[in-house]
Amino acid sequence: MVDSVYRTRSLGVAAEGLPDQYADGRAARVWQLYIGDTRSRTAEYRSWLLALLRQHRCRSVLDVACGTGVDSIMLLEEGFQVTSVDASDKMLKYALKERWERRKEEQFDRWVIEEANWLTLEQDLEKPGDGFDAVICLGNSFAHLPDFKGDQSDHKLALRNIASMVRPGGVLVIDHRNYDHILATGCAPPGKNIYYKVGGCSPAPSRCPLP
Ligand code: SAH
Repeated sequence: MVDSVYRTRSLGVAAEGLPDQYADGRAARVWQLYIGDTRSRTAEYRSWLLALLRQHRCRSVLDVACGTGVDSIMLLEEGFQVTSVDASDKMLKYALKERWERRKEEQFDRWVIEEANWLTLEQDLEKPGDGFDAVICLGNSFAHLPDFKGDQSDHKLALRNIASMVRPGGVLVIDHRNYDHILATGCAPPGKNIYYKVGGCSPAPSRCPLP
């Protein structure tokens, strides 16, 4: 069910349908500060993701939670053909601005950016042929979807819609913070973590500041 984790986010109010949690534009304005230097952030998983996409001969990529465009831009710079969607027009504004500023670069000129919601993805976005070679949902974005009905039916619908955009044999990447570990221990799991820069569990869970 929806819980306090959800309520702590900025209070986007939708006219109808799912609320845009970033609707007040505040998070979008400071997103770059929040995620830190874009290159050092993407450097955490860039080579892993690029190797995976190239290994599966992916050319077209759909970023279903592009936000301000951090991962889409990385893939454009690597020569992929990118389509980016997000439910928040306030977040998309920054991706659109970047596309405009870099429109003289061919990849950016061909960058498709649309407003779309995972719950209505099939209506919001036209699937090209059999689908995209790869679909990505990074930045712990899937966790933004509240379980309004308490039966995870919205999560299942969103996953079905997102997966339907992948061509047969294509690649789907959804990354997610390990909440089970956080709830059990009070801190981020040890090892390589993309989003928490505060290390693992030692020395004491109570002293592990979660971002
Ligand atoms: N991937 C980006 C953005 C992460 S923030 C990054 O790492 O920087 C999470 C994004 O998911 C937000 O931009 C939010 O608008 C989007 N989002 C949340 N719920 C969504 C939904 N139901 N449909 C589409 N996008 C959604």
